[in-house]
Amino acid sequence: MLRNKPRLKKGDIVILISGDDRGKKGKILNMNKKKNSIIVEGANLIKKHMRPRKQGEPGGIIEKESPVHISNLKLICPKCGEPTRVQKTRLENKKNIRVCNKCNEFID
Ligand SMILES: [Zn+2]
Repeated sequence: MLRNKPRLKKGDIVILISGDDRGKKGKILNMNKKKNSIIVEGANLIKKHMRPRKQGEPGGIIEKESPVHISNLKLICPKCGEPTRVQKTRLENKKNIRVCNKCNEFID
């Protein structure tokens, strides 16, 4: 397990903090928690060659997102808009909620 693992979920807006796409922002489309890999909209694109399946269908190259390791991502806080680390805190009703380290607002 990673220490200081970013606590991210599907639908979060994240920023890439390393690699070719450094600084790019996107929404989390999918995540694989076991592998700590995340598909971010528009990030880490790879070109795929598509062969037309039916006659008359255009083939060619499409761009598709490939997984980004969770350690290369940082959450953009929806409240203050800053890339941030999040902490978890437990509410009175025993629910865990994420808190922005920058503005101290609840994120969930
Ligand atoms: Zn914030």
